[in-house]
Amino acid sequence: LGGSITRALAKMSNDTVIDEKVFGDCLNDITRALLQADVQFKMVCDLQSNIKRVVNLEALAAGTNKRGIIKQAVFSELCNMLDPGKPSFSPKKGNPCVVMFVGLQGSGKTTTCTKYAYYHQRKGFKPALVCADTFRAGAFDQLKQNATKAKIPFYGSYLESDPVKIAVEGVERFEKENYDLIILDTSGRHKQEAALFEEMRQISEATQPDLVIFVMDSSIGQAAFDQAQAFKQSVSVGAVIVTKMDGHAKGGGALSSVAATKSPVIFTGTGEHIDEFEVFDVKPFVSRLLGMGDWSGFMNKIHEVVPADQQPEFLQKLNQKIFTLRLMYEQFQNIRNMGPISQVLSMLRGFRAELMPQGHEQESQAKIKRYMTIMDSMTDAELDSPNLKFMNESRIIRIARGSGRPVRDVLDMLEEYKRLAKICISMSNIKPHKKGDKRPV
Ligand code: GDP
Ligand code: MG
Repeated sequence: LGGSITRALAKMSNDTVIDEKVFGDCLNDITRALLQADVQFKMVCDLQSNIKRVVNLEALAAGTNKRGIIKQAVFSELCNMLDPGKPSFSPKKGNPCVVMFVGLQGSGKTTTCTKYAYYHQRKGFKPALVCADTFRAGAFDQLKQNATKAKIPFYGSYLESDPVKIAVEGVERFEKENYDLIILDTSGRHKQEAALFEEMRQISEATQPDLVIFVMDSSIGQAAFDQAQAFKQSVSVGAVIVTKMDGHAKGGGALSSVAATKSPVIFTGTGEHIDEFEVFDVKPFVSRLLGMGDWSGFMNKIHEVVPADQQPEFLQKLNQKIFTLRLMYEQFQNIRNMGPISQVLSMLRGFRAELMPQGHEQESQAKIKRYMTIMDSMTDAELDSPNLKFMNESRIIRIARGSGRPVRDVLDMLEEYKRLAKICISMSNIKPHKKGDKRPV
């Protein structure tokens, strides 16, 4: 999607005069790209007419940046489509709440339940998992295994076949034991969807969840809207999690599920592992859809900030797919040396949401400083080893002690490193910037 829209916009930039025809052609190109990215047909039509309304070419004074205005209009329309206008329920520490997961079989519910629990556990919540999937053989074992790995208490049964009964028992038990985030995993059978929706309705009625999360596989394509709507009709879905964003899916289904459920996307799943889970942030997501910002912008900043004599080495290392802690340290150093840090970081997908929430720039600066302090206590071998090969428990404890930071901070830093490494490694074809090269916009 990114590519085609960027091409559409770039094509337009070649036309010196942007008249109605060029504008129309451009919109058609964007339409095609959005459809290819699995955005629902009706939504694409809506987007098109909204943009036509917002952008009145004739009214634009001569000499204004028409291309910029159209680009901005597409960007903000897509952002609007992802913003249902109201935030979803968010759990509060110490206030018991029940969060129910729904979605078709294979969408990633069980995996995502554990990720969600783990994410909140690290934020100081006391989560617990209840397996109310009595349909799929092995469902309880799967949840048990995930939960045990993440050290999260769980409840379920091999004998009981009534999912409503298990859900109620599990919720009661964990409420009594003062858990503040009780997470209900449910079944998602195919082919018997009427029965499934009835089961979801009954579980929801019996447990009165504070939040129902619809889990959607990003690769389901055009089916996203109907699927999300079907769940919304049986239970009051309040949020969406889109999984498997690490695959080839283009993400357009996220727009459909927001429209169908009138609820926001709150997280995305980006892998099978428990920490491959990202807070959803509308603007970077749309930027990425449109191919604006993200890497081209980031690389420009690198070119501006990284001293010229270090550039080839940096890019060479990236091309060799070696992203070491030392490389990250050097980038932090570079970033700290430049103006508003958010300008650089906002271009990194997934990075900003975690490291640089808007309005928390100062805290983020402090965080980077903290990470650098921690890395100052690491050995050369540790800093230069790819993939944290050297890292183990005793080293982590030693580093924590040496830097005077809690172990948790060291783990946070390593997490951040893993995330960055993944993004950096996924870049390909990075060429050192030469004088006279045309920089991407
Ligand atoms: P459920 O049937 O809805 O409970 O789905 P599961 O949690 O059992 O997940 C189905 C499959 O998708 C499993 O193999 C998961 O490991 C995989 N999966 C779940 N989320 C993600 C994700 O974000 N990325 C990738 N690559 N795989 C995922
Ligand atoms: Mg499951």
